[in-house]
Amino acid sequence: MTKFIFITGGVVSSLGKGIVAASLGSILESRNLSVSVIKLDPYINVDPGTMSPSQHGEVFVTYDGAETDLDLGHYERFVNYKTNKSSNYTTGQIYDCVLKRERKGEYLGSTVQVIPHITDEIKESIKEGSFDKDICIVEIGGTVGDIESLPFIEAIRQMGVELGRDIVSYIHLTLVPYIQAANEIKTKPTQHSVKELRSIGIQPDILVCRSEKSIDDSDKEKIALFTNVEAKAVINSVDVQDIYEIPLILHEQGLDDIIVEKLDLKCDPTSLNSWQNYKSKREKINKNIHIKIIAKYGNYTESYKSLHEAVKHAGVHCGVNIEIDYIDAEELNDKNLLDLNKADGVIVPGGFGSRGIEGKISAVKFCRENDVPFLGICLGMQAAVIEFARNVCNLDRANSTEFDKNTKFPVIGLIEEWLDEKGSVEYRDANSDIGGTMRLGEQECIVKENSNIHDAYNKMNSVFERHRHRYEFNNEFKNLLEDNGLLISGTSADGTLVEVIELKNHPWFLGCQFHPEFTSKPTKGHPLFISFINASKEKNEK
Ligand code: GLN
Repeated sequence: MTKFIFITGGVVSSLGKGIVAASLGSILESRNLSVSVIKLDPYINVDPGTMSPSQHGEVFVTYDGAETDLDLGHYERFVNYKTNKSSNYTTGQIYDCVLKRERKGEYLGSTVQVIPHITDEIKESIKEGSFDKDICIVEIGGTVGDIESLPFIEAIRQMGVELGRDIVSYIHLTLVPYIQAANEIKTKPTQHSVKELRSIGIQPDILVCRSEKSIDDSDKEKIALFTNVEAKAVINSVDVQDIYEIPLILHEQGLDDIIVEKLDLKCDPTSLNSWQNYKSKREKINKNIHIKIIAKYGNYTESYKSLHEAVKHAGVHCGVNIEIDYIDAEELNDKNLLDLNKADGVIVPGGFGSRGIEGKISAVKFCRENDVPFLGICLGMQAAVIEFARNVCNLDRANSTEFDKNTKFPVIGLIEEWLDEKGSVEYRDANSDIGGTMRLGEQECIVKENSNIHDAYNKMNSVFERHRHRYEFNNEFKNLLEDNGLLISGTSADGTLVEVIELKNHPWFLGCQFHPEFTSKPTKGHPLFISFINASKEKNEK
């Protein structure tokens, strides 16, 4: 039977509940327990797919094509479990299900209410998303005391009563601030936050206290006394330079042993070698290289979370520290290249809409003409195709129909614009809903030999990567672009969709229609990013 660990947060948001959930998952997996992870989000959007990354951070895509909260990306970077459509539930999704049932008359005349109907739906969803693993870790978004999160908290409270406290455990994450003027840390916000949680019926088993300065034993005892938590179960998550040290820090303080004891788990001893190895590799690095990311969504490190992490992971595996600079695509043009000339490698990431696209195309041109390693992801690949069509093939004002509906040379367009019914694997048109109508999730890419991508993927002939886009390379221009030196080195399994493009006479220039950043793990690094960073390192050493 699955045992549940619920993680709530208090005092302020952004304390890193997702990282704690992910780290704990990783530690428990190392003890040979099977683990699933779920994120419950209190907002009303049915999924985050329609939310701006500048506001809400990156939209993470699961292998089965769900557009989810960026915390699922953290989970996948730490745990082996692959998150999926049942790993992220929002208030909107829960209500959507309940309302559909109500319309079908499934509630047999009863008045449909938050308790029990919404809370029952939440409990069902949690059970469904647990996939019968030994442990299911469930993170509740928001902060205790928010109106929006109440139904979720109530549902997890009920699960504790129904299943018993040897099946259900609660971890509460709080902030312990340091007041410089008094040279003291303050435990009061934590006390209040636990009081708030208890007032809605949950006594936490474990507290994880986030702090700038480490918390000593006497403070832990004080917190324990006022919150009714055992002193050994007050764990300190002190600020670290690198988030991948957190599994080590939590384990050192015995977090997993406390869980094992409380939930009476039969398992192996902990083995965190892969995190230790990652840490020692990182600590040995003494060389810096510069990677520029041509971005359009503000709040860069959140909007491009998986990409940022994937670049860092590859750096550790290539033995270089990467200084990542974001360049605002709207500021960039052929005459104002900002400090692109200082780049050892350039990435043009994914994106939607025309804002900043000309700047991205200028960046591609600079990399193509100056032998700078270039990685174009999704929109980045499309920008590379447009640039090549315009400046190498002389197709004046070639464009994607996403940005110019009337372009004479639509080198990128909606799939239904040129594939006949038989050839079309997905159906989309200009009137499709915005939410959930893209080519989404993991799909096969057939890799051509004698290409950078084939070398990068260790000579594999077929790879699986995740997609999230509406537009595609237009095959009507395939021959022309190939004749001018574009190499199409990856296609969909049926050969109809272009997945990867490269340049023949360039040290490393690659655009992929998929998003490799979603599957990069710190302990391994992603082959495509490793290959790109190695090329950038070579450029730096020249
Ligand atoms: N806007 C482009 C499309 O829909 C690219 C999307 C992306 O970069 N994820 O095809």
